[in-house]
Amino acid sequence: MIVMKFGGTSLGTPDTINTVMEIVRDRLADGPVVVTSAHAGVTNMLFDLADCAVRGRHDTFDLRQIHYNLIDPLGLERSIIQHDIDELEELLKGISYVKELTPRSLDYVVSFGEKFSTKIVAAYFSRSGLPAAAVNSYDLGLMTDSHFGDANPLSRSEAAIAENITKYAEEVPIITGYIAKDENGDITTLGRSGSDLTASFIGAAAGAEEIQIWTDVDGVMTADPNIVENSSTISYLSFEEASELAYYGARVIHPSALVPAIKKDIPVRVLNTYKPEHPGTVILRRCEETPTAARTIVYKKNLTLINIVSTRMLLQHGFMARLFETLNSHRIVIDMIATSEVSVSMTTDTRRNLRSAVRELSSYAEVTVEDQKAIVCVVGEGIRRDHGAPGRVFHALAGENVNIHMISQGATRINIAFLVDNADVERTIRALHKKFFGDGTDHDAVNAGRKLADNSAD
Ligand code: ADP
Ligand code: ASP
Ligand code: MG
Repeated sequence: MIVMKFGGTSLGTPDTINTVMEIVRDRLADGPVVVTSAHAGVTNMLFDLADCAVRGRHDTFDLRQIHYNLIDPLGLERSIIQHDIDELEELLKGISYVKELTPRSLDYVVSFGEKFSTKIVAAYFSRSGLPAAAVNSYDLGLMTDSHFGDANPLSRSEAAIAENITKYAEEVPIITGYIAKDENGDITTLGRSGSDLTASFIGAAAGAEEIQIWTDVDGVMTADPNIVENSSTISYLSFEEASELAYYGARVIHPSALVPAIKKDIPVRVLNTYKPEHPGTVILRRCEETPTAARTIVYKKNLTLINIVSTRMLLQHGFMARLFETLNSHRIVIDMIATSEVSVSMTTDTRRNLRSAVRELSSYAEVTVEDQKAIVCVVGEGIRRDHGAPGRVFHALAGENVNIHMISQGATRINIAFLVDNADVERTIRALHKKFFGDGTDHDAVNAGRKLADNSAD
């Protein structure tokens, strides 16, 4: 069995939905289980609708239109999503009456994107002679904790998923990514881009041979191809390298998505829906050491830098513990941290609760906050051996006049990360890519000498 996850970019038009159907049909012999995201742009639209509803307005015209623009040319009946549309409208009306939007009701609103997409995809597959069934992940057994907006799948849901998935021998299950339910039966979401995690969790639970992430680029590349035109596809990545690059923002994989695959040692392959014959990137437990220090350069924009200076002269005993207690109680997730004798700097992309966290921190420290920052990170197992890598980073940036606010190299020493202004990201990445990968036209050099270590061997 294989799990095939198709992102919103792969489901944006009738043509791409047809391509997805052909890709799945060509792999029927592998026993495909499909996980889908919402159609491109829909989740953002649902967040906006929730926002409008809380301010007293609700209008689903544009949302319906996006879906009808897919349903009509695909020759499907509009009625396949009517029940969900009605339910969503009731919900938005309720929110607009009470003018209150809790994290729980927000998850409920944004969950409709995946409910629509699974119904449209399953109906189109079936109409094309490929019997398929739309399945809500929670009906399959996927259960999470109750951290609305960022929920974690519970490992005890694995057994139910493994059992229920066997019921789909005659039809291809088209499963909702991103959404689940908690123990109380309330809808939860797994965080933005969470369909990757759904696919990996279901794949691990069901003992899939491979988890495939189908997207709009040729796999994981040496840099975001939207920034560096001549970036190259990386054929093989270790789980460790891939976890770092996902954590530091290479949108192509959700940061937690690899965890279930790592636990069960299942290869994850990143593939291009628009070029299905391209082998993409395979992420495995272990790959041989690379000849190049760096494998990829990733970035994460729109971070906030929090500088905290202890009001006592030194960071006295217990200060750090108190700091983390405050951040934890407000559910602020920290990406990067640097300390000196009297100060601590850290970055976060958490918006919710940030103001209240800063207020509490200010009661025992001096706090300043700077927005519009970005982490840029060079990732590669070869960095461990290459003592000159940090020097090359600085050399590349020296001529670019980029202001570096923070630097960090993790204990595993497979990344060098630094904080710059949002506005400097593009030229920082282009300069680093040139330094580490040349002009990028020698695509074979990126993977040269890299042999795949036997994934099943230790
Ligand atoms: P999907 O809708 O399929 O989930 P995403 O937009 O979440 O697609 O992820 C794919 C995008 O990730 C690509 O279009 C690309 O712009 C971006 N990306 C960022 N860094 C990388 C990288 N190193 N390699 C490949 N893609 C990257
Ligand atoms: N539709 C969700 C989002 O836009 C989940 C996903 O795409 O994976 O974040
Ligand atoms: Mg994605």
